[in-house]
Amino acid sequence: MQNQHGNRVVIIGGGLSGMATAWKLADAGEQVLLLESSHPGSGASTVNEGWLHSGGWFARSSRELAELCHLGLQETLQQFPGCVEPEPRGMLYLISAEGDAVDQWVSAWEEARIPFTGIPCSQTVERIPELRYPDRVRAFLLPDCSAKFDVLIQELQQRAKECGAEIRDRSHVVRLLKDGDRVTGVELADGSQLEAGTVVLAGNAVGMDLLRAASPGEAGGQSSRECVSLRTHLLSLPRQPCRGAFCMPDELGLHHLPHGDRSIFGLNRWQPVADLSGDTPDPHEQELLRRRLFEMLDIAEPGNQILSEWAGTTVHAMRPEQIMPGEAPLPAVVDYSGENPTWRNLIAIFPGRATLWNSVAGQVLSKLQHS
Ligand SMILES: Cc1cc2nc3c(=O)[nH]c(=O)nc-3n(C[C@H](O)[C@H](O)[C@H](O)COP(=O)(O)OP(=O)(O)OC[C@H]3O[C@@H](n4cnc5c(N)ncnc54)[C@H](O)[C@@H]3O)c2cc1C
Repeated sequence: MQNQHGNRVVIIGGGLSGMATAWKLADAGEQVLLLESSHPGSGASTVNEGWLHSGGWFARSSRELAELCHLGLQETLQQFPGCVEPEPRGMLYLISAEGDAVDQWVSAWEEARIPFTGIPCSQTVERIPELRYPDRVRAFLLPDCSAKFDVLIQELQQRAKECGAEIRDRSHVVRLLKDGDRVTGVELADGSQLEAGTVVLAGNAVGMDLLRAASPGEAGGQSSRECVSLRTHLLSLPRQPCRGAFCMPDELGLHHLPHGDRSIFGLNRWQPVADLSGDTPDPHEQELLRRRLFEMLDIAEPGNQILSEWAGTTVHAMRPEQIMPGEAPLPAVVDYSGENPTWRNLIAIFPGRATLWNSVAGQVLSKLQHS
């Protein structure tokens, strides 16, 4: 075991959470080593929909999450303006004109202080010409963006390195090293052991295996939160002619984000899954997404259009009352010194949304400074 690194912070995982944390901690003067199994951004952070949330989508289910997302959007645009698709800006929220849904969304956005503008039907049609029933919805423009999260990770990596963080790719951690209730370091797949003053687990779904192996039967059994793996399905089409970002916050919750030469679509459906690593798409879920998409948009038949279909899994640490697929889990940064079972020197990040990279990194720094 190397022993000159007793104070160093070892971060496991080079997604948005790990990379942002490496930057924040190195910037604050910590000695940081980030270990990534594959290459930075090989996990959920880049196989997602690239939706930089304004928080509008969550405003009715969780005002707190909506406000956090809105802050995350503003911070991202301010610090890394190059990591969003240039045009067209903003996202149309298409709300059923029937009943009182419009009033409810408008008050939720007002309460969360998320800016929005009502859009006349003619502009909706201009922005999404293939929308089948534009007169059945009221449209509002909110500041959500299409993010290039791969670019964001590169930028964060650059900043982390400039602040002195060491980033090692192809370094798969197989085990947390423990001495009593203290985590003292990590073991890599090549058998080498690295000492750490603090280990930050930012491995998302795959990283959960480390917790499970370190304490069989207890991982995720904290008193206040439960770890839940949720899977959702996406598909991509060529971007033209579907150019504008939009979402339909109804029961199925279709959404669309334009990216370069492709458009990505998803539904607001998240299934709890036990298998953390496999991302094999479920044919039933894909069919549901395809059907909804071609029901709502007047575009060519699926066979010739679909570029790819995939599923992705992410881990949320939820309070028990939140465990409802599709609900809005808050980001969590868990310091295991205050949990049961207790592991000192171990912090885990469960961002829930890529948009919240800055918030979770800030929370890790604050926990480290107060420990
Ligand atoms: C399909 C899908 C769509 C989504 N869409 C959006 C969206 O549009 N907008 C949004 O804000 N959020 C979205 N999310 C959520 C968001 O993508 C995730 O919450 C976020 O990216 C997680 O980031 P992370 O850094 O924690 O994890 P990841 O990006 O998964 O990074 C974890 C990294 O850890 C590495 N790793 C794992 N285990 C080890 C180990 N043992 N040793 C070393 N390295 C290890 C992995 O290789 C990986 O690179 C989506 C999620 C999914 C699954």
